[in-house]
Amino acid sequence: MKHDLFVMSAPSGAGKTTLKDLVIHEFPDMVYSISATTRPAREGEIDGVHYFFKTRDEFQKMIANDELVEWNEVHGNFYGTPKSFVEKMLADGKRVLFDLDVFGKVNFDKVYPDAVGILILPPSLQVLEERLRHRATDSEEVIELRLHNAKKEIEFAEKHGKYEHTIINDDLERAADQLRKIFLE
Ligand code: ADP
Ligand code: 5GP
Repeated sequence: MKHDLFVMSAPSGAGKTTLKDLVIHEFPDMVYSISATTRPAREGEIDGVHYFFKTRDEFQKMIANDELVEWNEVHGNFYGTPKSFVEKMLADGKRVLFDLDVFGKVNFDKVYPDAVGILILPPSLQVLEERLRHRATDSEEVIELRLHNAKKEIEFAEKHGKYEHTIINDDLERAADQLRKIFLE
């Protein structure tokens, strides 16, 4: 069966964005779903490319107008999947890759139960911490919060998540190969 929807989830810093950027351009029929968020843009992030950056008011309006497939508050900010983008891409015959937190994925499954789940994990929590610090995009406070949440997210995903595939992102090339295989299936 050909699948149209793929959802990646991972604790922050596991390398989901790096893996996605490495592999997705090899699949011209595949697009990355751009989420809406109230998180401030990081250096180099572009509105409409990495995220649709919204104020909390704008985001609340999107919820009220039923414009989101799912949404969740993650690490103190709102994130959500705009319906219009997904529907247009599917109508255009594209496959869509989503990046959702483990709790948002459960709500996503209620709308799209056949989506293929891919859980990306770091080799250890210590490596996760090193990666978050090395990335140097977040304040100490934000790093601490993301690490604290990582444990809960991994536990939840392993117990309650619907993930058909798990990739341990230790060696980047090996992990990228695993992801390619999933998209080729
Ligand atoms: P996420 O999107 O899951 O939050 P990122 O893709 O931003 O994570 O990766 C976090 C940091 O870890 C980045 O600095 C990235 O370059 C680095 N990284 C990603 N994958 C690996 C890997 N396999 N080995 C070493 N460093 C990695
Ligand atoms: P970041 O701030 O590092 O870009 O993302 C933080 C978290 O938000 C990640 O776990 C990511 O998967 C999640 N996320 C990004 N977009 C969405 C979305 O549209 N919905 C949900 N539920 N989570 C999202």
